[in-house]
Amino acid sequence: MQYWRTPLDAEQMTSTRGDVLIIADRCKGCAFCVEYCPLDVLAMSDRFNRKGYHPPEVVKSGECVNCNLCEMICPEFAIFSVERKPAELATERVPEVAR
Ligand code: SF4
Ligand code: SF4
Repeated sequence: MQYWRTPLDAEQMTSTRGDVLIIADRCKGCAFCVEYCPLDVLAMSDRFNRKGYHPPEVVKSGECVNCNLCEMICPEFAIFSVERKPAELATERVPEVAR
């Protein structure tokens, strides 16, 4: 995240992290999840699912913050994220947000 002013404790701040799971054959290729992911973790893939749509894929592995926005916005219940365990996050930092 890019701050207007850098908080004094910015170095100590951490955020949750998640792993994104995509059920490709449920996807209808609407790209809502790609459009609204705040960290641009997702992109539409070139491959086809069983319905003939292009499902999304993870393009920034490890940058998902488990906000669940993709899960909430998906009309087909085809994508969700699960939180990583705190032990796996020990040394990770908050990612930069693209403007
Ligand atoms: S949970 Fe949030 S950060 Fe992770 S892929 Fe979905 S929208 Fe992006
Ligand atoms: S929001 Fe759901 S249906 Fe739309 S592209 Fe993403 S996974 Fe597929």
